[in-house]
Amino acid sequence: MKSINKGYIDGEFVALNGTQVFDLINPTDHQKIGEVTLGDETDTRRAVAAAKEAFRWFSKTSVEDRIRILNKLKNAVSKREKELTEVMILEYGGTRRFCTMSVQNAIASFDNMAETLRHFEFQRKVGNTLVQMTPVGVVGIITPWNSSNSFICSKLATAIAAGCTVVVKPSEMSALQTQLLTECFHEAGLPKGLYNMVNGLGNVVGNAITNHPDIAKISFTGSTVTGKLIARSAVDTVKRVTLELGGKSPNIILDDADLEKAIPQAVFGAYMNSGQACIAPTRLLVPKEKLPEVNQLAKAAAERVVVDDPAKDTTNVGPMVSEKQFERVQSYIQIGLNEGATLLAGGLGKPEGLEAGNFVKATIFTNVRNEMRVAQEEIFGPVLSIIPYENEEEAIAIANDTTYGLAAYITSADEDRALRVASRVDAGRVCINGFKHDPLAPFGGFKQSGIGREFGAYGLEEYLEPKSILI
Ligand code: NAD
Repeated sequence: MKSINKGYIDGEFVALNGTQVFDLINPTDHQKIGEVTLGDETDTRRAVAAAKEAFRWFSKTSVEDRIRILNKLKNAVSKREKELTEVMILEYGGTRRFCTMSVQNAIASFDNMAETLRHFEFQRKVGNTLVQMTPVGVVGIITPWNSSNSFICSKLATAIAAGCTVVVKPSEMSALQTQLLTECFHEAGLPKGLYNMVNGLGNVVGNAITNHPDIAKISFTGSTVTGKLIARSAVDTVKRVTLELGGKSPNIILDDADLEKAIPQAVFGAYMNSGQACIAPTRLLVPKEKLPEVNQLAKAAAERVVVDDPAKDTTNVGPMVSEKQFERVQSYIQIGLNEGATLLAGGLGKPEGLEAGNFVKATIFTNVRNEMRVAQEEIFGPVLSIIPYENEEEAIAIANDTTYGLAAYITSADEDRALRVASRVDAGRVCINGFKHDPLAPFGGFKQSGIGREFGAYGLEEYLEPKSILI
């Protein structure tokens, strides 16, 4: 059992003023695996002061210096890749496959930002005006539990590339992972005050960050509900905010698609990261006349989904991160049943033999109408809704009939047709014929899925203020 009772401020692990202790519970078997002492407002203020002091000199560093720091961080995190993966499986309950990828993405984010920096223009000419892109200031980084390390690394890498310093508040449920990551940063010899981290609750440390006048920008990933609270709180000091929020992404299967390939892919895709993924394609839109065939293929695919111990190589779906999240998913399955959706696979209760953890059955509802709550609200668990449509026009209308707009997926035998549909779907990322990831392409949401973009040059611009110098 590991006890974490320090934060990381001004280049050192330091005792906190806060005294509240939070238990860390293994989601696979409910055993206590550790505890973390939570910081308070005083601790947050101390972290902000360190970041502010470091910003004075770090904001003036050269691109070469920043690339050197990014390389050091990459090397230090790479050294402990295996350990980070194991701790993520233990603490979060993500599948081995997902956690391996997530840690690899975390490491890659340093290289991606270094690459972006090599081509980025910090000085531009507009007419006779010189435009300088200057670092925005101290950035408050607030992250969720579903891929904690990769969010922290990609936001930190972007901040460093821009010349900003940071105060990080991770999810209290990711304390073991954050501790290990912070040790990596420390071992990398990261200059003092660039990265400061305070464990704590959202309404305490998170709130102290969003209210603090010396923080210029918030970079937040989490739920839409919390994102709105943060934006409200940030407005008093006119902070810049980047919000990466929830999703209810449509997966449009056009009538020329190869269903035998597309439907199993859609089912397994909906269960990515055990369904705890903001970009999961949770609404499967299929031509009405093909619904019987789709149902058959989807049911068969769901039967092949392995819900089991996340440490096993063969597992597709692990436990939900917490009992609270398990209960939330169960309540949505009940809502689907009450709304009259047809249960095709899974359902209420835990899979046999997995009663000790937060396991949910791989669940599919079919004959879902898009106005049902299971189609409109983010469930964040392995629950897929199949929604039939009459024609392409209606498919696009259904896809866009949501408050979210994070991702969308389109499958068609005709790429030009898929592209035409893609240009009419309201989403920050549209994948055609499969699940794709481009770490340099802008990532973020339309509508209530967020504000701003991350990754590559678009992500970097969010940490910079353009200054026009008129000569
Ligand atoms: P959450 O919103 O409950 O918490 C996220 C973080 O915000 C945590 O660190 C939490 O402590 C903090 N927080 C809570 N209240 C706060 C407040 N008042 N002020 C400041 N900080 C506060 O989200 P979660 O349950 O940890 O994560 C799941 C959610 O994250 C899902 O909705 C998912 O879609 C979203 N998400 C979005 C993306 C994306 O890139 N768009 C990626 C991953 C997850």
